[in-house]
Amino acid sequence: MSRKKIVAGNWKMNKTPSEAENLVRELIPMVEGADVDVVVCVPFTDICAVSALTKGTNIAVGAQNMHFEESGAYTGEISADMLLELGVKYVVLGHSERRQYFAETCETVNKKAKVALAKGLVPIVCCGESLAERELGVTAELVRSQVKKAFAGISAQDAAKVVIAYEPIWAIGTGKTATAQQANEVCAVIRGVIAELYGQETADVIRIQYGGSMNESNAAELMGQSDIDGGLIGGASLKAGSFAQIVKYKG
Ligand code: PEP
Repeated sequence: MSRKKIVAGNWKMNKTPSEAENLVRELIPMVEGADVDVVVCVPFTDICAVSALTKGTNIAVGAQNMHFEESGAYTGEISADMLLELGVKYVVLGHSERRQYFAETCETVNKKAKVALAKGLVPIVCCGESLAERELGVTAELVRSQVKKAFAGISAQDAAKVVIAYEPIWAIGTGKTATAQQANEVCAVIRGVIAELYGQETADVIRIQYGGSMNESNAAELMGQSDIDGGLIGGASLKAGSFAQIVKYKG
């Protein structure tokens, strides 16, 4: 089964608009002609500049969150339409940092995913266990439940468009990467849940990324696994050279 790999940078709360422009200017020629989908998920304030610079290139722009309401009295929030008008194609939903610090829940992730899909944005839905949960042996159960909740009420046709990012929380920003085998095992569990929910055909096409301290040294091994279809990259996406090496991980 051939699924096109997708490598997405998650810049988190880094880079002012001028810093973002510098990074993207450097990145564009480095990733030109890559055979994976390339995405940069940038802070809201960088979207305008990054969208303008990446127009006509193979780099797509993603946001790191959005609200599920269309518009209204939600101070500080951003809607799907606002993102779309700026050329955004992807939106990260349910990142563990948003779950941990901003009260994101599986229910809000589900609401956001439905709106994103209805509007034509591709959700990158994050899931993953904490270290305590891994040590308790409940990783598979927890991730299965997160995925089921995130996909509640989503049709098979829409589900196939979603990108899932498996991100063990203990591996995010810590320098501790899951082994390729550990990461692949959980990605296979996730594909299994999608098969249960939607059938094997959907499970075969949906793309599942691994995220958690992926870098230029471990990317090839991780992305070489049978159920890992790309990476969601935090720290290593903040330097054009490292991110480009991950994008071009084969060579
Ligand atoms: C992330 O932010 O989703 C992430 C995986 O971060 P890092 O690569 O820095 O661990």
